[in-house]
Amino acid sequence: MVTTQQSGRRCVGVLALQGAFAKHTSMLEDCDPDLEVIEVRTPKQLEMVDGLIIPGGESSTISKLLDLNDLRQPLAERLDAGMPVFGTCAGMILLATEVLDGREDQHSFATIDLSVRRNGYGSQLDSFEADLLIVGLDDPYQAIFIRAPKVEAVGSSVEILASIDDSPALVRSGQRLASSFHPELTNDVRLHRMFLDTCF
Ligand code: GLN
Repeated sequence: MVTTQQSGRRCVGVLALQGAFAKHTSMLEDCDPDLEVIEVRTPKQLEMVDGLIIPGGESSTISKLLDLNDLRQPLAERLDAGMPVFGTCAGMILLATEVLDGREDQHSFATIDLSVRRNGYGSQLDSFEADLLIVGLDDPYQAIFIRAPKVEAVGSSVEILASIDDSPALVRSGQRLASSFHPELTNDVRLHRMFLDTCF
């Protein structure tokens, strides 16, 4: 594998420790055939990317695997340095400043000033779809919520790009995006493009 610097290609990563990473990877590749997309499992791979998607899955498991794979500290440093990031569902939880109903042993990066409640919309059985109006997109976006975190509060640095029943569902803070839904589960690449636009 070659670095962006070596290849001259733009390079983004998808954190691939657990959960719904594979479809994110193929959607990013669909967005731009010239883009290099790396599944990130090691600190070395993290060094290679200009931006990162943290996927949905199980935030407490991803949190544990970050420690087991020696990724917590390097990822915290990249996030603190302003690396563009898109956290989706469990990924949103991992970027939040406050996690309600979290496990005691799970830790988030406090990258976006958000308070989120894990499984705030209910269990797997309460999963649902909704057409969202998203700032910057002309047509509604079909969003799929699966054991989604509910955003209960946002800080003043956070821009709300879409809401569902008064709860923010897509937010932006500088070059950081987070969604409570799974943008990789439809074939609509508009949010992946929005993320790439923040990276490059
Ligand atoms: N409820 C899960 C968690 O706590 C997130 C669900 C998802 O990513 N679909 O991590």
